[in-house]
Amino acid sequence: MVKQTIQIFARVKPTVRKQQQGIYSIDEDEKLIPSLEIILPRDLADGFVNNKRESYKFKFQRIFDQDANQETIFENIAKPVAESVLAGYNGTIFAYGQTGSGKTFTITGGAERYSDRGIIPRTLSYIFEQSQKDSSKIYTTHISYLEIYNECGYDLLDPRHEASSLEDLPKVTILEDPDQNIHLKNLSLHQATTEEEALNLLFLGDTNRMIAETPMNQASTRSHCIFTIHLSSKEPGSATVRHAKLHLVDLAGSERVAKTGVGGLLLTEAKYINLSLHYLEQVIIALSEKHRLHIPYRNSMMTSVLRDSLGGNCMTTMIATLSLEKRNIDESISTCRFAQRVALIKNEAVLNEEIDPRLMIIRLQKEIQELKDELAIVTGEQRTEALTEAELLQLEKLITSFLEDQDPESRLEVGADMRKIHHCFHHLKKLLHDKKIHEKSTVSSEIKDQNCQEPLKEEEYKKLRDILQQRDNEINILVNMLKKEKKKAQDALHLSSMDRNEFRHSQSSPFPPGNPEGPRTLPSSAPTQVHDSSAVGYRSSLLHRKTEMREEMSLGRQEAFEIFKRDHADSVTIEDNKQILKQRFSEAKALGENINEARSKIGRLKEEITQRHLQQVALGISENMAVPSVPDLQEEKLRSQLEEEKKRYKTMFTHLKALKVEIEHLQLLMDKAKVKLQKEFEAWWAEEATSLQVDTPAVKSLNLTKPFHQTPESLHERPQLLSNKSDVNARKILPSPCPITYSQEQNSTSASLDDSIPKRPTSSIPLTGDSQTDSDILAFIKARQNILQKKCFQ
Ligand code: ADP
Ligand code: MG
Repeated sequence: MVKQTIQIFARVKPTVRKQQQGIYSIDEDEKLIPSLEIILPRDLADGFVNNKRESYKFKFQRIFDQDANQETIFENIAKPVAESVLAGYNGTIFAYGQTGSGKTFTITGGAERYSDRGIIPRTLSYIFEQSQKDSSKIYTTHISYLEIYNECGYDLLDPRHEASSLEDLPKVTILEDPDQNIHLKNLSLHQATTEEEALNLLFLGDTNRMIAETPMNQASTRSHCIFTIHLSSKEPGSATVRHAKLHLVDLAGSERVAKTGVGGLLLTEAKYINLSLHYLEQVIIALSEKHRLHIPYRNSMMTSVLRDSLGGNCMTTMIATLSLEKRNIDESISTCRFAQRVALIKNEAVLNEEIDPRLMIIRLQKEIQELKDELAIVTGEQRTEALTEAELLQLEKLITSFLEDQDPESRLEVGADMRKIHHCFHHLKKLLHDKKIHEKSTVSSEIKDQNCQEPLKEEEYKKLRDILQQRDNEINILVNMLKKEKKKAQDALHLSSMDRNEFRHSQSSPFPPGNPEGPRTLPSSAPTQVHDSSAVGYRSSLLHRKTEMREEMSLGRQEAFEIFKRDHADSVTIEDNKQILKQRFSEAKALGENINEARSKIGRLKEEITQRHLQQVALGISENMAVPSVPDLQEEKLRSQLEEEKKRYKTMFTHLKALKVEIEHLQLLMDKAKVKLQKEFEAWWAEEATSLQVDTPAVKSLNLTKPFHQTPESLHERPQLLSNKSDVNARKILPSPCPITYSQEQNSTSASLDDSIPKRPTSSIPLTGDSQTDSDILAFIKARQNILQKKCFQ
């Protein structure tokens, strides 16, 4: 690390006129620090701002008088900085002074003579020369050239920089990373492998700057230019890279606005220049003051860019350019004062070294290979990445014997092979993990066992056994019933399909088998499909339920049901609906026939038209005549007929669809009424049976064999009731036509029942006591049937 204050130098520009005596003097005593004394002429001193002092003394590192040539300036000012840059430190040389004081001449050089070359070309030359001389390092040079005008940055080396003004260019902006490093976005970096290439870049930038400059926009005096040489160096084979930057800065004129005395745009520019320099001054003041925590670098672009150069990691040098003429005395004093402050700033330049990760990888890979080779020599065996099968097997054996060994002193010896050591650890970890899992499952099963083993109370055990037995029985019964239901559902399905076929045969389907317009025009709910659709499924399920329930009934009950149904008020509605349904069916049948007729007529007409077309074409070919353009009257007639038929067909089809809806609706209504009837009959049946039990205990035993209670009254009323359908009282005193014993019923129905169903003993099924069970079973059957029916029709 190199700690030093910013080096300040003064350079006095040669005066065009004969040197004015007595304005300044340079004291260059070798023992003392050189100083520049500016002596105020009498007339000026009277009106000078500060006081009436006649002379001002400023100390500099070195003062270059008018006769100092470019070579001297380079040798004394730039060369030491260039050397430190070559060593890997950052460096900055900036020229500060009023316009025309020689900043550009010093930094870049004069445009006329080769000997007038300034610091930039000389430094470039020096750097390339030195880097070529130094074979111990590999150097890489990149160049960037930034111009800051009115607080905006422009890339003077931008390849698109053919613009007539700076404003046409993309702006260079400042980015700050989390480590507070400054990055310049849009500033291009150009590699220069030779001095020539680097000089070309300098000239390209200067030319661009010149092109962009207009009389109204004298950028050269009102803008700051920063020419940067980015130098990287590394020793061959080393992963350490040194990066150093050398900023060569040509600042804008430091003259004050008051003196410029201009208005409008120029005033704005002057303000900016001064603003920019003002911020530079502020930063310098802040840096020169001890214990100052905040340094306002961010206030301007220039101070941001030169952040490292001022009070940071940089060896910085300032050249105060002075044009010591009588009229420039105040500006010269101002420049010198500025330099004095700058001289107070302490910088700490450090070597900017970093590890190149790419090179580091290569180096480490090389090192690994070398170590491997060394190992192979020592062990006498070549090692691969993975262990061989044999090695793995051997290791596992070793681990097993190690684990089984009861001796606490036993050791697992695998040798100094990291791969084997790692494998052992891995294997042991796996074993441990597996053991944990095993233990967990064992513990949980033990807990379960314990729970199970807990002795049950005798009472609870009996209860559970009973429940189990009960469930077993229930399952058996239900399985048998399901078997029975399945068979019945299939039978019903068979029956209903037979019915449908019968109906179709007898009435010759009222629905048209197809659509003459083609199958695509048929609606999805075409009448032909109605019977096989879900509506049928739903209907037959209801119908089936009805028949099922009747089959379930004893003969006596069946008979009673028939009478109940006949005398029920709803039976009238059912009957009426039946009639309407019949009517609708015949209507549909007639309509279907008409539709079929219309369809075949449409087909015929189409055929006729096609034939006619063919005939005409054939005629045209045989007689070598063109097809007549005059419309064919016959064909037109056929076409209008066709249209007519199509219309008729459509109307009828629509009507048939409406009929279909009505029929379906009626069928559903009927089914619903029938189910209702059945339900009401069941309720009545149960009611009757209960009242029989309660009212006549004497005949209670008879109930086992007689489903109906017979009274002389009922017997007497029976013929009347049978003849009078509308008598509502009939339901209450419905008699059985003839007493039927349960055994009789069983015998009569047993033939139709599934043989697999165990016959319930007569005595164990008291009819009245069973009514609840019966209705439960019925509900169950209904539910099952629904499911079975749905499955059947899917
Ligand atoms: P600035 O950049 O500070 O405005 P310049 O470098 O453009 O000033 O100098 C203004 C004029 O003075 C230029 O024509 C330049 O050639 C000339 N000049 C400046 N310094 C010297 C010097 N040391 N020797 C000879 N000519 C100089
Ligand atoms: Mg200049």
